[in-house]
Amino acid sequence: MIHRADIIVVGAGPAGSTAAKLLADRGFHVALLDRAVFPRYKTCASWINRLAFERFPYLKPKLNDLIESPFFGVAFFDSFLKRSARYLETRPSGYLSLRTKFDDGLRQIAVEAKAEFHGGSSVVGVEQDGAEVRAYTAGGDVFCGRVLIGADGASSRVAMSAGLRRGWGRSDYVICGNADIPYDAAGIERFFGSRFPFQVYLQYRMLYGYGWIFPKRHHICVGIGAMLVDNRRIRPLFAKFFFDLKERGLLPEDLELTGARFDVAPVGAVYRLNALTRGRVVLIGDAGGFVSGSTGEGIYPAMVSAEVACNVIPQALSSGAVETKLAEFNQAWRPELASYLKHLPGGDQETRTRNRINWIFRSTLAAGVAGRTFLYGEQPSVKTLLRSLWGSCRFMRTSPRAPKSGTTITALD
Ligand SMILES: Cc1cc2nc3c(=O)[nH]c(=O)nc-3n(C[C@H](O)[C@H](O)[C@H](O)COP(=O)(O)OP(=O)(O)OC[C@H]3O[C@@H](n4cnc5c(N)ncnc54)[C@H](O)[C@@H]3O)c2cc1C
Repeated sequence: MIHRADIIVVGAGPAGSTAAKLLADRGFHVALLDRAVFPRYKTCASWINRLAFERFPYLKPKLNDLIESPFFGVAFFDSFLKRSARYLETRPSGYLSLRTKFDDGLRQIAVEAKAEFHGGSSVVGVEQDGAEVRAYTAGGDVFCGRVLIGADGASSRVAMSAGLRRGWGRSDYVICGNADIPYDAAGIERFFGSRFPFQVYLQYRMLYGYGWIFPKRHHICVGIGAMLVDNRRIRPLFAKFFFDLKERGLLPEDLELTGARFDVAPVGAVYRLNALTRGRVVLIGDAGGFVSGSTGEGIYPAMVSAEVACNVIPQALSSGAVETKLAEFNQAWRPELASYLKHLPGGDQETRTRNRINWIFRSTLAAGVAGRTFLYGEQPSVKTLLRSLWGSCRFMRTSPRAPKSGTTITALD
């Protein structure tokens, strides 16, 4: 069957559903395709920072449909679990969710905006000629439009079919293990408290990456991720991480390791692409490598890359030179995301990075700055330092009864 739309969006993750919603709001006829039937699972720790909810205010009234619980800052642990440093905030630093829930919520928001969703539509090829771009699905459908957005994730078929890239290089990937383990809500609150930070285990056992514990409302999420070039076998390391934490009382002792899933993310890979557009095809989200090179965070960057593309596309379509105007996306994302997505310096500068990380456990000021760098992609600077002091102190003034916020360092042994 042949379908026609102004814009075809392939992939209904955070990037695709955001693009579909924003373009439908502008009056375009949008076809949003996904190979999955929703709600669908995606391996992810599902931390979404506060910036996403500030930048896309339409998410706030839907909060209950999108998230599980808020978190308040970040607790860092060192490589051998000997020291910890906490940067605690007064208002939610962001939210923890399950991707089944969050992504289906975003998809529904796009559908409410009148985007047309086609689940179970696996795109196998893309063709362009003249003013038309076509997506072919495994089921034999053809979707024709004036622009096509590739939001089909890290192994983007659109990127390959449009000739934008073959795959990512080995050094562009992190490999991650993640488990959302069901646990009783009252037990989570007893163990972690009611206003908890999420926990990050920096360079666990000298890993070129980190581990995490994100306590959600009905799940405890445990995971670990490392650059593929680290060459460590992630499955046994993940199990070791889990049992290490249990042994030290950092996880409830009756928690069983179940449901672990493994996947890759293209961190900071956007810098390795020559172009994100070709003709009438545009790549956003993981398909374009919009993932933070230092934290692996990709949901907020995926949504921002969608927003930037949605500002460029209408201008391109109303101009006489659609492809040339569309190519402006190759630069337009930089003011919004370039510093956010930067890599932690690795390679020959790795020792410097490790030394810097060490400072987090020596100085509360450094811990505060690191907290904001991790949570909001801010660069270390005096401004970030002042923000960290302000963010963690405000609460003490406004609500003396609630648990203390601020920055602390603790020796665990
Ligand atoms: C273990 C792990 C933990 C992570 N934790 C976090 C975290 O806590 N916070 C965070 O911000 N980021 C995290 N990330 C990164 C985050 O998951 C991604 O950056 C984010 O999902 C990118 O969104 P997207 O919309 O670009 O792609 P995706 O969410 O991957 O969505 C792509 C969609 O395209 C569909 N699709 C794929 N191929 C086709 C096709 N051929 N035809 C049609 N549809 C197709 C898929 O079904 C999918 O629905 C994590 C990544 C991993 C691997």
